[in-house]
Amino acid sequence: MMTRKRTNPMEYREGMEIIDSDMMEKILEMLGNYDYQKYTDEDVKLALLKEHLSIDDFGAILSPAAMPYLENMAKKAVSETRNHFGNGVSLFTPLYISNYCENHCIYCGFNCKNKIRRGKLSVEEMEIELKAIAKTGLKEILILTGESRHQSGVSYIGEAVKLAGKYFSTIGIEIYPLNSDEYAYLHECGADFVSVYQETYNINKYEQVHLSGSKRVFPYRFYSQERALLGGMRGVSFGSLLGLDDFRKDAFAAGLHAFLIQQKYPHAEIGFSTPRLRPFINNADNNPNDVHEKQLLQVMLAYRLFMPYAGITISTRERAGFRDNVIGMVATKISGGVSVGIGGHNLEEKGDEQFEISDPRSVSEVHQMIITKGLQPVYSDYIRV
Ligand code: SF4
Repeated sequence: MMTRKRTNPMEYREGMEIIDSDMMEKILEMLGNYDYQKYTDEDVKLALLKEHLSIDDFGAILSPAAMPYLENMAKKAVSETRNHFGNGVSLFTPLYISNYCENHCIYCGFNCKNKIRRGKLSVEEMEIELKAIAKTGLKEILILTGESRHQSGVSYIGEAVKLAGKYFSTIGIEIYPLNSDEYAYLHECGADFVSVYQETYNINKYEQVHLSGSKRVFPYRFYSQERALLGGMRGVSFGSLLGLDDFRKDAFAAGLHAFLIQQKYPHAEIGFSTPRLRPFINNADNNPNDVHEKQLLQVMLAYRLFMPYAGITISTRERAGFRDNVIGMVATKISGGVSVGIGGHNLEEKGDEQFEISDPRSVSEVHQMIITKGLQPVYSDYIRV
C-alpha cells in the first residue's frame, strides 16, 4: 500500500495570505524558554501581591507551584472581574450551520475521516433556526462551521451573518481561518468577533494531530487573529485545546499570544476560551488526560489575573456545577440552549454533533441560575450604529 507523504506544517499553501509579523517566532521562543517547574511558592506569592502581572508572573501562577494557591487566586480574580465587568454575565448561543470538514484533526468529531451524518443549513433553514433562537431573548450569536471552503464558502457564511443581523446585535464567527480581505467582507456583512483556537502551540504535536487539510498549516492559523483585526473585526478570541499536549505550556502560549496582540492592537477586544477535549461520535475515549477541573480552573484564573480586562467564555463542554462556579469569578460569558449538531433549535437535527455537551440547560435556566448567584444576565452590551 502506498503511504501519502505528509506536507510540511510550516509551509503556507497557495492563496494563504502572509502578513508581515514576527509574533509567531517571538512566542515560540518564549514558549521554548518556559520551564514551569522552576517556579517556587515565593514566586507565586510575589506574583499575587502585584497589581499588574508580568509575563514571568503569569508563568508562575500557571505552574504546579501555584496549585496550593487557587483560593488566593480566586479571591483576587473575583475582585478583578468585578472591577472590569461589574456583576454582568453575557449570554449567547452557538449556531452550527454546517459540519462538513476537509481536515483530519484526530481529536474532533467533524474530522473528514469520521463517519457521521453530514449536513448544512439552507438559507431558509438558517432563518428558521435564527428566529427560534431569537425568541429565547438572546441578542448575541456565534456562527460556526466545520472547515470546508467547498461546502461552506465565505459567501455562504456571509449570508448567514447578514441574516443573523436581522435578529442579533452581536455576531461572532468560529470558522476556518481567512485572509484579511475575507474577514473584511464578513465584517461588512455584520460579524464583529472572530474565534480561532490554535489547539496546541507545540509544532511537533500540531503536526501529529492535524494529519491533512489546510488546518495543518500552523503559521496561517497562528496569524488568523491579526488578519481578522486587519480586516476590521472588533474582537478576537484565543485558546488552546487543553489535554491535547502539555496544558501548562499551551495555556501559557495562548495567554502570550493574546497579550502581544493586545499590545499591538490596543483597540481590540480580547477573549479567551478554555476548551478541554471531549468524547465525540466514534471516539468515546477522547478525554482531557491530566486536565481536571482544578487544572482548568487554574488556567482560567491565570488568564483573569494576567489580562483582567479580557472576556472569558465557559463552554458547555463543562458540567453545570463547574460553569455556575466560575461565572462572576473568572468567566464573563456563558452559553445556553446549546446544540452542537446542525439545526436542533427548531428544525430537526440534519447533521451530527461535534462533541458531547455536558450542560444541556436552556437559556431561561441559565438566566435563572445567573440571577440566583446575585449576578446580572446581560443580553446586549453593544449597539450597532
Ligand atoms: S477541529 Fe475544526 S478543522 Fe478540525 S476536524 Fe473539527 S471542525 Fe474540522
